[in-house]
Formats: sequence, structure tokens, C-alpha cells
Amino acid sequence: MPTTVDVFAKVRGHERAEQLRAAREADLLPYFRVLTGPAGPVVEMEGADRVMLGSNNYLGLTGDARVVQGARRALDDYGTGLTGSRLLNGTTALHVELERELAEWMGTEDCIVFTTGHQANVGTLGTILAPGDTVIVDSGDHASILDGVMLSRAKMRPFRHNKLDKMEKALERAQGDGGGILVVVDGVYSMEGDVAPLVEICDLCARYGARLMVDEAHGAGVLGARGAGASELLGVEDRVDLRMGTFSKSLASCGGFVAGSAEVVEFLRISSRAYIFTASGVPAALGAALAALRIVRSPEGPELFARVLANARYLRDGLRERGFKTIDHDIVTPVVPVLVEDDWKAALLWRALYDAGVFVNVAIHPAVPPGGALLRTSVMATHDEATLERALDAFASVKQAFEAEHGPLPTAAR
Ligand code: PMP
Repeated sequence: MPTTVDVFAKVRGHERAEQLRAAREADLLPYFRVLTGPAGPVVEMEGADRVMLGSNNYLGLTGDARVVQGARRALDDYGTGLTGSRLLNGTTALHVELERELAEWMGTEDCIVFTTGHQANVGTLGTILAPGDTVIVDSGDHASILDGVMLSRAKMRPFRHNKLDKMEKALERAQGDGGGILVVVDGVYSMEGDVAPLVEICDLCARYGARLMVDEAHGAGVLGARGAGASELLGVEDRVDLRMGTFSKSLASCGGFVAGSAEVVEFLRISSRAYIFTASGVPAALGAALAALRIVRSPEGPELFARVLANARYLRDGLRERGFKTIDHDIVTPVVPVLVEDDWKAALLWRALYDAGVFVNVAIHPAVPPGGALLRTSVMATHDEATLERALDAFASVKQAFEAEHGPLPTAAR
């Protein structure tokens, strides 16, 4: 009889599985809820209409007739799939057009499109970094950034979220590491919706000879006059070396990109394993992203950016007025977090809101620090006031019943 441990043993009885089972049994699991209709501001989910405050469809373009038509045209022109790598048979005229227009939008020499945003980060960081290099990351950076870093085997020096003194310490220490230095931050942090202090970060990078990459997943299509993201809003576009973005948020599709200098982008095209050893995105996804990008870059774009940000302000103020503790930032983004602190209470509150017809996302440890559980709400440009009011009414009535049963929720400091 072999005496080796069963490699599958870890899937049984670990703490996370137990938590999941308990939450599932109590029907408190906020995950894997099934949509049965389009991803609009109000969705049909598990037999009921619910206000969607848990989507990254910030501009509400997933159902826009022009975007749908863009997807349809690409489907008609190229078929359902490209069945091969970008490097081989998977590059179409659509990719070439999209990469050119994305580079124009970002104001960079070139741009490379990946099949997903996750692959854009993994495929860039895993390629541009090598053992011997140092990469300095914010503790709030997206998981795909950390995955790319781990793949690269570069030395990682993380710093506490937005703590620039800690970032500077890491830069000082990195001087002794002997390799190249890359700093990677999110432009807008996905859970708490705060914007990175990019001016100061650029200054520090310049002082210590480090390159800078900014993940603009949540800022692109929303922030800045052209909607080119946090780097544009803060006036540092020409000081950021690489800007990553995704189609899975404002651009209403699926896919990712990295914009930067022609030489770096060309290097990625011939060396990035997450680009070469995977199939090209489906034509419909590219056609939709291109159509959405054209709307973003048209005179209609700034109207949509203004609308989604006004909605975020409306929701944030409404939640505060109803006694919820939101995290307020100087720069408003579509992400409005509501602090709950306790993981189990967050799940209970999620369920109560769900029953009251509102879908939000829940972030518990390890997505946020221990004791920092929050409901991540996010808005779209296409939420109208009546729909936001409906959601706020649900929050207010749920709060009263919830606190009577489970004790007080964190309150807004006034
Ligand atoms: N970066 C950030 C900051 C993200 O939030 C996400 C997705 N949530 C990604 C990258 C990955 O993008 P995609 O969903 O296109 O794979």
C-alpha cells in the first residue's frame, strides 16, 4: 500500500471550507448567486428583481445597443472563437484597431491586448520582472499583480496600503538589492475605492530610479477628462511607465491591456507566456470593447463619467444620512464601501439586503484586513434616482431590524 498523503486531503475539513459550509447551510453565502437576465442596474436574480449595487459595469454599457451591435458585427465577421494564440492565428484586424485606439486613448506609443485583465497583469509582471529585480507593491494591490510578481521570482517588498513613508523605506532598501526596481500600485483600489497618491508616488519613483506601473482597472472609463484613469486625473500620465486596464469594467466586456512604450510592449508580444500560450479573446468580446471605447472617447464619454460619479456621491450621502459608516475619500469613485467590521455580521447584513431586493458585494478577510469587513457597493451611470432611492430605502429598513436583532452597526462619524 502506498503511504503518501492524498493530495486531495486539503480540500476536506480546512477552516475556509467549514466557514463556507456553515454560510451555505444558513443560506448566507453571498457568492455564486445566479443571474437570469441582463447585467443592468436592476437584475433578475434567483427569481426576483434586485437593484444591482455589486457590478463593475460602471458606465452601464453592457446592454447599450451600439456595444451589442459591435459584439454582433465581430461575431458575424470572425465567428465565435479564434481558436489560437495571438502569436499564431489569433490576431485579427479588430485587435490591431483596438490596440491602436487604446494607445491613443492612454496617450502611449503602443498597447497590447490580453485575453483577460488578470492575464494582462500576470503576463506583464511575470515577463518584465526577473530574479534579481525588486518589485514594490501596495498591500491593497489586486491579486493578479501578486500572482504576476510570484511568477517572476523577483524580490517583493510590500508596503502598508498608501503609506508613502513605508514605500520610501522599501525603495531605500531596494537600492541594495542590485537589480531593477518596479513599483506597482492600483490607480483606484478595488475594495475601498480610494485613489492612489500618484503624484507623490511618481516623485518617489523618480528620486530612487524606479519604474512605475499603475493598474487602472477601476479608474479607466471613469476618472479624468478623457476617462483615461487616475493617472490622467492626477496629471501624471507621462510619468507612469506602464498602465494596465481591463475591458471587464467600464468597457463592458472581457479582456485586458497594457499601454506603454513601444519597446516594452513589443517585448511583451514576443515573450509574455500569458499572452502567447493562451487563446486570443473571442471576437464578440473585442467588438464590444471597441464599441464601448468609442463611446468613452466620444463627447458622450464625459457625460457618462459625470453621471456615474454623481450617482456614487448620491449613494454615499444617502447611506451616511441613514446612519451607515461609509469610507469617504477626497476623490469620489464608483466604489462606495460600507463598513461592517465583523465578518459574520457582514454576511447577515448582506442576506437581509438581498431579501430586501438589493445585491451588493461582501469583502471579508483576507480580501480586507481582519476586522475590516465591508459591503462593497458600486454604482453605474445608468442607475436612476428612483432606483438608488429604492436601494437606500431597503438599507434603512434593513438597518433597523438588523440592529434590533444583532446589535449596532458601525455609525458614521459626524
Ligand atoms: N486589476 C484589478 C484592480 C481588478 O479589480 C481586476 C478584476 N476585478 C483585475 C485587475 C483583473 O481584471 P479581469 O477581471 O479583466 O481579469
